[in-house]
Amino acid sequence: MIKESLLVAEQASQREVVPAGDYYMKVVKAGQVFRILDLEGNQAADTLFYNADDPSERYSAMDTIREQGNVYLSAGSKLLSNEGNLMLEIVADTCGRHDTLGGACASESNTVRYALEKKCMHACRDSWLLAVAENEQFGMSKRDITHNINFFMNVPVTADGGLSFADGISGAGKYVEMKAAMDVIVLISNCPQLNNPCNAYNPTPVEVLIWD
Ligand SMILES: [Zn+2]
Repeated sequence: MIKESLLVAEQASQREVVPAGDYYMKVVKAGQVFRILDLEGNQAADTLFYNADDPSERYSAMDTIREQGNVYLSAGSKLLSNEGNLMLEIVADTCGRHDTLGGACASESNTVRYALEKKCMHACRDSWLLAVAENEQFGMSKRDITHNINFFMNVPVTADGGLSFADGISGAGKYVEMKAAMDVIVLISNCPQLNNPCNAYNPTPVEVLIWD
């Protein structure tokens, strides 16, 4: 569902451009609104959320999908934790829908999806592992990397129940915006993927904005 935001970028308290292949790992406080802006279009922001007070509580695709009765995420979606608590709500969305079924790219999936010699190419899972290693203050490790949201990714479920990676429906300047219901650690891998026609083999930066 398309829903525009009333928030003005110039009034954001934090703004940070995340280059393709880089990560973003910061706490968004309860009540703050944060936006991921697809600066050039058809980028994928592979995102995980954790309770900042106890990272063993984290975003759950299963609980979120079951409770909303919809496999896609958009404005109005309530992002639930593995304990059934509301973590964030999508309050604005100019892209229309986001995937939470397809998972993130990894060196293993690169070999299955593309070619064996793609194994050593940079993937989202590598960025997440680097993020948790470089941010010891959160006390997280490899075991905390779980299923994610692919903001701006178009992964339609086919009539026979399969998944297909389709051409992106995002574009330059489209965004998704969420209001935090608890203090959350936001961990984004801005996808470095060079093998997927969805992004025209050209990963691009996103911008993260936060309003108090
Ligand atoms: Zn990726």
